Amino acid sequence: MIPYGKQDINQQDIDAIFSVLKSDFLTQGPQVPAFEKVVTEFTGSKFGCAVNSATSALHIACLALGLGNGDILWTTPVTFVASSNCGLYCGANVDFVDIDSRTYNLCPEKLERKLIQAEETGKLPKVLVAVHLCGQPCDMKRIHELSKRYGFKIIEDASHAIGGSYQNTKIGSCAYSDITVFSFHPVKIVTTAEGGLAVTNNQGLFDKMNLLRSHGVTRDENMMKGESHGGWYYEQIELGYNYRMTELQAALGVSQMQRLEEFIVARHALARRYNENLKDLPITLPFQLENTYSGLHLYVIRLQLEEINKTHKQVFDELREKGVGVNLHYIPVHTQPYYKAMGFNWGDFPEAEKYYQEAISIPMFHGMSVEQQDKVVATLKEVLV
Ligand SMILES: *Cc1c(COP(=O)(O)O)cnc(C)c1O
Repeated sequence: MIPYGKQDINQQDIDAIFSVLKSDFLTQGPQVPAFEKVVTEFTGSKFGCAVNSATSALHIACLALGLGNGDILWTTPVTFVASSNCGLYCGANVDFVDIDSRTYNLCPEKLERKLIQAEETGKLPKVLVAVHLCGQPCDMKRIHELSKRYGFKIIEDASHAIGGSYQNTKIGSCAYSDITVFSFHPVKIVTTAEGGLAVTNNQGLFDKMNLLRSHGVTRDENMMKGESHGGWYYEQIELGYNYRMTELQAALGVSQMQRLEEFIVARHALARRYNENLKDLPITLPFQLENTYSGLHLYVIRLQLEEINKTHKQVFDELREKGVGVNLHYIPVHTQPYYKAMGFNWGDFPEAEKYYQEAISIPMFHGMSVEQQDKVVATLKEVLV
C-alpha cells in the first residue's frame, strides 16, 4: 500500500538521536532550546515553546490566552478534533465557522456574519483557532482585522503548514496572530516522532506557556511569590502539566528542520505532477489562495460525483483495494458523537459537510517515487472511468 503520508528519516537524523542517548541529558537539556531556536529563526518569531504534541501546544496556548470556564472558542469544522478539543479542556464552549468552498479553510465572510450575530447575542468568541488545512494559509489579514474589531485572540493551528508562507510572512511569524502551533507527528511535514511547538512574539504568553508545560513550576526568583529557601528551591505558581518534549525528539527536530526547504520543494514538485496528470479527470484539484505558499501537508481531491457512476465510498474503497492508501481529512468535527451530544448536528455547517462527501486525500510524502506517483495517477484513472 502506498501510504497517504509518512516520515523521511536519514542517517543524520539517526546520528543526532544516538548522540543524545550518549549525552548527559535525555530530557531538559540543550536540545529543546536548540530546536526552539531553529524554529523561531526559520519562522521569524521571537519565542518558541516545544512540547510533546500539537494537542498540548493548543491546550497551553488557550490557557495562556486566558480561555476559561464559560468563554467561547471558534474554529473550523474541517480539522482534526484537537483544534476544538483544546477549548473544551479549558472549560470553554466551542462553536464552528463554516468553510470556504474553494480553500476549505474557515471562510472570512461567514466569520464576519457570525461575529455580527454573536455581538448582538453577547456570545462573541474569546479565541479563534485558524487552521491552515493541507498547508494552505487562511486569509490571516482579514481574520486579524476582524479580531481587532471584535476583540478575540487568534491561534494559528499550523500543524499542516510549516514551511509555507502568507503574503510576505512565513507561517509562524505570528504577524497576524497571537500564537502559532505546529505538529511534528510522523505524518506531518517535519517529525519529532510525537511533538509540537508554539511560537509567539509576546513574552508574557511565552512565560505562561513555559510554566504550563512543566507543572507550573519555576526556579526563576523573579517569578517567585516568596523568598528562595536555597539552591534546591522551586515554586509552583500555576496548575501546569508535564507536556515536555524529550531531548531525543528535539535533536530529531533540529536535524529534520535542516531539510525543511527541501521537503517543501519536493512536495511542490509532486503537487505540480498531480495537477498536470489529473487535470482531465472528473475531480476538483486543490486551489491556491493568491499570494500564499502552501506547506502542502496534504493533497486533497474532490470527486465531481455527478460525473462519476460510483459513490464516494466506492471510489475510496477501490483505491485502497488497489494499493493506494488514500485517507479523508476530515470528518467534520461537529458530527462526531461527542460533539453531537453537545447539541451539534448534521446540517449545521453545509459547506463542510459537502466537502466531506467528496474529499479524498491522495498520497503525498517526502521520498515518494515517480513510479509510486504514476501508480496513484493510473489507479485514479482506472477507478474514475
Ligand atoms: C495533527 C494535527 C493536530 C494534532 O497534532 P498532534 O501533534 O498529533 O497532537 C492538531 N491539529 C491539526 C490540524 C492536525 O493535523
